[in-house]
Amino acid sequence: MRTGFGYDSHRLVAGRRLILGGVEIPCDKGLAGHSDADALLHAIGDAILGAVGAGDIGRHFPDTDPAYKDISSLELLRRIKVVSDEKGYKVHNVDTTVVLEKPKLAGYIQEMESNIADNLNIPADRVNVKAKTNEGMGFVGRLEGIAVYAVCTVKETGH
Ligand code: MG
Repeated sequence: MRTGFGYDSHRLVAGRRLILGGVEIPCDKGLAGHSDADALLHAIGDAILGAVGAGDIGRHFPDTDPAYKDISSLELLRRIKVVSDEKGYKVHNVDTTVVLEKPKLAGYIQEMESNIADNLNIPADRVNVKAKTNEGMGFVGRLEGIAVYAVCTVKETGH
């Protein structure tokens, strides 16, 4: 068993869609970024890459590469799963905390968890997404952006 940790943050801007965990959430602002800026999936991806000792998302999918412009981060997650498979590990479980002032995510969390589980090919009860505010403090509190923390464990597949 190995553990990995991931963190991501993106700026909230007008004129972008807000996509978290592969779910589009109605909001007057969205996350800026080269891909679809799904900070939740990016944090999870970094946690998986960390657990298997394979660097980070920026190394695998550089934001200078036009191939990744506006790409769905669910596609990036599937590619990260392939990296993990090739290293000889299977994701066991994922836990995450999304830190944002608004909008409320409660109504979307189940769909996020099943998107993540489906794309990692694991049961949905092995994926946990939590959301909390930052009590008005810092860049999250000023609605300048959102932050996401993720941990995951992986198991050796034994080949
Ligand atoms: Mg990111």
